[in-house]
Amino acid sequence: MSAQKGKIRKITVEERILLANEQLAAQNRALLDRFGVFALNFMASPGAGKTSLIEYTVRALRGKMRLAVVDGDVASSLDSERAAAAGARAVQINTGGACHLDATMLRQALKQIDLGETDLLIVENVGNLICPINFQLGTHKSVLIASIPEGDDKPYKYPGMYRGVDALVINKIDLLPYLDFDLDYFRRGVEALNANLETFVISCRGGEGLTEWRGWVEREVAQRARLLQPTRLNRRG
Ligand code: MG
Ligand code: ZN
Repeated sequence: MSAQKGKIRKITVEERILLANEQLAAQNRALLDRFGVFALNFMASPGAGKTSLIEYTVRALRGKMRLAVVDGDVASSLDSERAAAAGARAVQINTGGACHLDATMLRQALKQIDLGETDLLIVENVGNLICPINFQLGTHKSVLIASIPEGDDKPYKYPGMYRGVDALVINKIDLLPYLDFDLDYFRRGVEALNANLETFVISCRGGEGLTEWRGWVEREVAQRARLLQPTRLNRRG
């Protein structure tokens, strides 16, 4: 009886943490919407190519829209330096050991960004395929970056991540001829978890599929701007 009580109480505490985070995430979303910022949450295992895809996206779109990047890492500012070199305003969050970003961390980073001068915000989460999906940040869409060297079994091993995202990027496709990666087996695993998931097969190194990816980001930013327009007009009227 007492063991059962203890178990129930533990679940409640975890749920309370997630609920508090969700409330803060909703505040972040409202803040982003007020300034018309479209925000993406990039998640992946370490080394999948999140920062490389950010560099490409910033270079491809910087003439068309105003970009900001928030980089989450346990330590170092290496990734935000790369994003800044590509042409984005970049803020580094060092989690000091935490294996995911949460809404409070993003809120702190947003204070350092001029949101009125931003159209697209990319958040690079900590490299980890487990818990980042459980912590909403307030971003509009989440993107999972998988890569060929990780192996084709990842959808089967990390279903929560694959189930929870809005788009999937399969990076390093140029390495497919050299590795035992069964693309059909991988895709079947994804399909079972998240049917009709928007998927891009790319190589940041070779350039394959990047035009399609860039087109998707541009459409999403434009669609968000259209959605927000009536609210702004109503406020003025
Ligand atoms: Mg990185
Ligand atoms: Zn974590």
